[in-house]
Amino acid sequence: MPIVFPIVGAARYGDDYRDPRANAEHAGNDILTTWRSPAVAAEDGTVTFWTRSARAGCMLYLHGASGTTYLYVHLNNDLTPRRDNRGACVPGVAYADGLEDGAKVKAGQQIGYNGDSGDAEGTYHLHFEVHPNGGADVNPFPSLNAATRLLFPLPANPARKVALGLRGVPVSAGAGVLELSVTAVRVWPGGRWTAIAPRSVELAVPDGAQLDESAAAQLATLTPRAPASRAATRLTVITVPAPVSPEMMAGAPGALAVDRVRHG
Ligand SMILES: [Zn+2]
Repeated sequence: MPIVFPIVGAARYGDDYRDPRANAEHAGNDILTTWRSPAVAAEDGTVTFWTRSARAGCMLYLHGASGTTYLYVHLNNDLTPRRDNRGACVPGVAYADGLEDGAKVKAGQQIGYNGDSGDAEGTYHLHFEVHPNGGADVNPFPSLNAATRLLFPLPANPARKVALGLRGVPVSAGAGVLELSVTAVRVWPGGRWTAIAPRSVELAVPDGAQLDESAAAQLATLTPRAPASRAATRLTVITVPAPVSPEMMAGAPGALAVDRVRHG
């Protein structure tokens, strides 16, 4: 089972495991992303907060159901984007809103906010470690490369239907499928637009989908599996409200259906 990628949003990382660092060899991979990007559970499990390491700062252990323990290090400790260090290692700052120490969590559920606490000061990133069977660390890089990248974190109430907003450039269209190279996502109700690493998402286009004129004109110039024309410009797609599923969170082909499309 691939893990869920521990950050939702645009992020970059490399194979920096065992790189020499100030105090010891690097025991994980650093995932660079913006301030307060959601850190999500790599798998189902139980969380333990850890706040007593000056170097790690605000940190969290995820004890996964598989037996693997994951470390989330350098979570947020700022109350403003000015790197004020005025935030405590508490829910709503470092940890997800309302999350309790010892809580059971689901894969993809937000557990923290990305930050620069501890000796990461000045470089927002998640230091992520993987400890199979709770033992010695291994290189997270292969797991991260194979991980499922989510379009959005698991909502607090997964039973409630959600609609997604997807912004991107169409890649192909036809035969009831719209393929979009997505660069930003938002969730309704309650979300806000979040940049993601550009990725292709294949959406079902039901007969009743509403397309504004310029979007329809643009889609008419695309054919199934044809590369996007250089003239392709950005569209905003709103999906049909649906109950949250792992496939939908991952943006699996056909898991999302177009409700309406507008240009821009
Ligand atoms: Zn690190």
